[in-house]
Amino acid sequence: MEKKEERTIADSLITYLEYFSRSGVTHLSVKDSGEIPSGAASDAPPSTDGDGSRHDEVIDRASLVSAVRDELGECRRCKLWEGRTNIVFGQGNPDAVLMFVGEGPGRDEDIQGFPFVGRAGQLLTKIIQAIDLEREDVYIANIIKCRPPKNRDPEPDEVAACMPFLMKQIEAIHPQIICTLGAVATRNLLGIKTPVSKIRGSFQRLDHAGGVMVMPTFHPAYLLRDPSKKRDAWEDMKKVRDLYKTFI
Ligand code: URA
Repeated sequence: MEKKEERTIADSLITYLEYFSRSGVTHLSVKDSGEIPSGAASDAPPSTDGDGSRHDEVIDRASLVSAVRDELGECRRCKLWEGRTNIVFGQGNPDAVLMFVGEGPGRDEDIQGFPFVGRAGQLLTKIIQAIDLEREDVYIANIIKCRPPKNRDPEPDEVAACMPFLMKQIEAIHPQIICTLGAVATRNLLGIKTPVSKIRGSFQRLDHAGGVMVMPTFHPAYLLRDPSKKRDAWEDMKKVRDLYKTFI
């Protein structure tokens, strides 16, 4: 291969990887053949089908997630854009079997542009590691993608504006399990009003993207405030770990 040709291929690859990285994609797997699907490298990634075949199409899923990020753009669909530093879209493995959904970005997340990077995030990282995984194995997102003033709970219009994008992320990633962290995540994802303390620890079914098992558990920020609840959270996570093992 000519040097010039090598340089062109390397440049295209860098552009391709930067595109995914901007969308919070932290992990790419290549098919055995080493081939990159032709659609994935084009300017317009393939549209979200939401229900395609599963984890052998990793690069396609990265493209699907990035397409959702592109559609979100520099969002002004609700008033939260005015106070944000960064949109916190989501981060992780687009081919994840397990997804975590929190409430919304706090101060650290707003500054850095990634979910769960503050104190609660450090605890979430430990929780993930306790079930023998790393953050790179899972995908992490929130109900809303912009920080509310003074970290107040998201308002209904803000949730309504943001939820379609979370649902599209779920379609793109096609996880088998979602762990909802805290009341805001659990209630909004499942569309229920039941307190988390009542349903935590028992799998619920979300009829979306072909059906996903949802494990509601406590928010890590709550566990920091009340460490006595860590025992319950660990029981929930053991169930997640056991179900996860059946999918790999
Ligand atoms: N709390 C959340 O719910 N989400 C984050 O990303 C950080 C803290």
